[in-house]
Amino acid sequence: MIVSIYNDDTISINIESITKILNSCMRSINFIHKDEIIKINSKTVSKKTCRSLEINKTNESDLRVVFTEKQYDNNYYFQSDSNTIIVSFYLWKHLTTLPHNNGALYFISSLLSSEIIPGTKHMTRTGCIRDFLMEKTDVDVGMRSAYICPDCQSLLRNNKQENDYQKNILTTEELMCILNKLSYASRSETDVATIVNDAYKTAERDLLQTDNEKFDVFMCHNNKDKNNIKAISNKLKQNGLNPWLDIEQILPGEIWQDKIENIIPNINSAAIFVGKNGIGPWHNQEIRAILSEFANSNKRLIPVILPDCSKPPILPLFLRQMHYVDMRDLEPDPIELLTRGIVASSEI
Ligand SMILES: [Zn+2]
Repeated sequence: MIVSIYNDDTISINIESITKILNSCMRSINFIHKDEIIKINSKTVSKKTCRSLEINKTNESDLRVVFTEKQYDNNYYFQSDSNTIIVSFYLWKHLTTLPHNNGALYFISSLLSSEIIPGTKHMTRTGCIRDFLMEKTDVDVGMRSAYICPDCQSLLRNNKQENDYQKNILTTEELMCILNKLSYASRSETDVATIVNDAYKTAERDLLQTDNEKFDVFMCHNNKDKNNIKAISNKLKQNGLNPWLDIEQILPGEIWQDKIENIIPNINSAAIFVGKNGIGPWHNQEIRAILSEFANSNKRLIPVILPDCSKPPILPLFLRQMHYVDMRDLEPDPIELLTRGIVASSEI
């Protein structure tokens, strides 16, 4: 499938970079950057405009996408029943602080997924690429979250099996590759067209490496205790262990819930740290995920009381019955105790 991308004369979008990003993620679609500047004669645009647009029809594209600042007659972002789709950035600056280029990548992902995945879009704001965007400002959340929800992923996968033609169009992995780049850039208020740089490539390479790495212990903690946890993690590393710590393993823009859900089943022990800050909100979510994964297995949960606790912390009920490591005690060495607990569970 070939998709060509254009600007009209009301807008400037870095189509060269956008096609580069799209082509770096997609094998089944070839995106082409066209130098031709389109002229839309009407004041507003509509489905009819899409059908009648003057584009050099000699080109071989299956789909043509045209970006404009002109408004749709129904104020939508895009709408078409032909193979030319006009995408409207009307009053963009009032809808988001993010650049046009991020929007361009968002809309291409969104229109491809709606072409390919059957059924209605989400009518509420979920952050999924198949949100209908009832409120136009939801596009801002959409670009920052830029993900495809598990329901839509399974629709995409099932669709592939049923339809041979669509099988060659788009895979979940290809779509996620684009969305990850988009959310990485958007969350850091960066123009997605600039991410084709070395810093991003390095981050991506590191990520690929850690995905194949084996970890010994999941470090479940309250964000407020981060400094203490980093110090403990370093001591565990000195003892030859490889702890999984979110700040070291999750890149900006990654879907951290997914990342954590993926790592928990592949790890044999989890240390649950409780300090003077108690249990934090996300800490609590992690504990639940760990509990459901660990419930019917021999995997080991190790509660750890951090050294900054002046009085005994209130541990959640289920943790109270377990042997815990108290970092306030200096003898026996709590790091050694924790190391032994982790090593014992890796031998299960
Ligand atoms: Zn969805």
